Amino acid sequence: MSVDCIFCKIVKGDIPSKKIYEDDDLIAFHDIHPISRVHFLIVPKLHIESLAGCEAQHQALLGKMLLLAPKLAKEQGLIGFRTMINTGREGGQEVFHLHLHVFGGSDSLPRV
Ligand code: 5GP
Ligand code: ZN
Repeated sequence: MSVDCIFCKIVKGDIPSKKIYEDDDLIAFHDIHPISRVHFLIVPKLHIESLAGCEAQHQALLGKMLLLAPKLAKEQGLIGFRTMINTGREGGQEVFHLHLHVFGGSDSLPRV
């Protein structure tokens, strides 16, 4: 838990979110500024700043995040989707608590 972290506050329930999933390790909720018809975030409850802050001990947690993505995407009605982890300011990260973006459901996404 990091005192000033917005996602830690969402995990604690201090800030409301449109939650779609929760277990002992993870929470998932809709992004407040969606970039597609469906756009949600998979967030570990543990405060880890970014993917670059992950270590071997986080391997199972990272695997769990990835495996959850297709399950929730299907529940949200997505056939195809994109996943993204922005890492560091130069990688476009704005919230420094690890999260996996999952989005899709609009017209086909641009090639990257
Ligand atoms: P980043 O740029 O760090 O990869 O993505 C952070 C994401 O968190 C952004 O897409 C932003 O819209 C979303 N976000 C920021 N604050 C909140 C919030 O309070 N609630 C929700 N649901 N999403 C948020
Ligand atoms: Zn946090």
